[in-house]
Amino acid sequence: MTVIIDGKKTSSEIKDELKEKVAKLNKQGTQITLAVIQVGNDPASTVYVGNKKKACEYIGIKSLAHELPENTSQEELLQLVGKLNQDPTVHGILVQLPLPKHIDEDLVIRTIAAEKDVDGFHPESVGKLSIGQKGFLSCTPAGIIQLFKRYDIPMEGKECVIVGRSNIVGKPMALLMLRENATVTICHSRTKDLAEVTKRADILIVAIGKPRFITKDFVKEGAVVIDVGIHRDENNKLCGDVDYEDVFPIASAITPVPGGVGPMTIAMLMNNCVEAAL
Ligand code: NDP
Repeated sequence: MTVIIDGKKTSSEIKDELKEKVAKLNKQGTQITLAVIQVGNDPASTVYVGNKKKACEYIGIKSLAHELPENTSQEELLQLVGKLNQDPTVHGILVQLPLPKHIDEDLVIRTIAAEKDVDGFHPESVGKLSIGQKGFLSCTPAGIIQLFKRYDIPMEGKECVIVGRSNIVGKPMALLMLRENATVTICHSRTKDLAEVTKRADILIVAIGKPRFITKDFVKEGAVVIDVGIHRDENNKLCGDVDYEDVFPIASAITPVPGGVGPMTIAMLMNNCVEAAL
């Protein structure tokens, strides 16, 4: 029988655990504070920022919203980040991506103080991950590792195939699976015969950004299938990069969309905020 990996339930458990930790820190006089910067009013970003604020409220983290107009200059944004870097009452800084085209995203990420980089995108955080040192982990891949751990899905020695090599999902995911002693293969748009590679996977993690791209023809019988993608289909229904109905019968475990990886990303962001204050 296929196990449905419930990210909503797991993320609630994590948030409840964090709420207790935050209450203890409050009693010791620490009010954890996350500064959230949004430039412009991209509707998807507004939804994501709103969800992050709600999670902060639930856990007891103070969120400081900085909503800047679309025409904010790069200099103004860098100055704000610099000010927050210096502010000892701010523990974490999150700049919602994507930024408007006239702003250099990499430069903004590099400007965030590494010790406040709760998204885990700063080169120092990425470097620490790659050499096995403790640092902030990119939230989506860290959330997927938590799903494996909390569902007792073994990673050690397993063939893990990751489809997608982005800096925020595919690459950190590969490093984390390597840390868990899986045998890791990364696929991308130039991979020859994708299905031949993905069919080797005991664990298949898909972050490709194409709705329902992965059908059962890409999946080995009994594989664990993790779907990172989020899309709205032609009927305005949420779906992932995996064709859930098609793959479900042959997978041993699978994440749904919505309710799989998405909620875990926010839970791990909250976890990083707590870590930032310790
Ligand atoms: P990107 O667009 O940055 O990366 C997509 C990757 O998929 C690239 O590496 C690309 O290869 C690869 N790819 C594209 N087409 C193919 C193909 N036909 N065959 C093999 N590989 C292919 O996406 P992200 O990693 O940022 O996001 C992926 C998905 O996950 C999106 O749907 C996004 O919305 C979602 N997402 C969800 C999150 C969550 O919290 N649930 C968080 C972040 C993202 P190449 O490098 O060669 O171009």
